[in-house]
Amino acid sequence: MSTSSRTINPIPFNPRLLSMPGFSERQILEHFNVLYKGYVNKVNEIREKLQFANRQEANATYSEYRGLKKGETYAMDGVILHELYFENLGGTGGLPRGNLLYRLEEDFGSIHSWRHDFMAAGMAARGWAILTFDPRDGRLHNYLLDAHDHGLVANTTALLILDVYEHAYFIDYGTRRADYITAFMQNVDWTAAERRWEKLTTQQDHS
Ligand code: FE
Repeated sequence: MSTSSRTINPIPFNPRLLSMPGFSERQILEHFNVLYKGYVNKVNEIREKLQFANRQEANATYSEYRGLKKGETYAMDGVILHELYFENLGGTGGLPRGNLLYRLEEDFGSIHSWRHDFMAAGMAARGWAILTFDPRDGRLHNYLLDAHDHGLVANTTALLILDVYEHAYFIDYGTRRADYITAFMQNVDWTAAERRWEKLTTQQDHS
């Protein structure tokens, strides 16, 4: 089996991330180059090793195959969540526009209520706060994840992602997570969330 077609590559670095108020160059570059690219490399390493892993001895307590598959899920979620995070940063904060704003107001009562709840999810999570669309009830929800692979509600679509792992803010803020979340909100690129929403609603229109 060829490995090259299965190799994943990091997204390009957006230079706007280096001029965000409230984020130092070191904070962003270590997060992107060390943490995020580290997950990309691990996915490739794990998938290479999976080609040769022993399936016959697969076991739910411990086995080589289980270890690799658990690592694959964790690392791949790390890749996807970080890509969504970096893509929805580098903007000027404020409010979303158009239909996404309308839906946030409808589902949360007001944009202020949504924002208050999303920031609370950021304070309460051990890993990530996520604004998602859940097709089960057709509504927007704020959810939290305690790790890359713990807490994501199945079949939901992520629209806005906030990384609250300490590595995302400790260089700039130490233990002051609330200040980091405020800075995040001031640098949200709502066009990324609006694009995700538009893609989702377009798909639904055609289904
Ligand atoms: Fe992170």
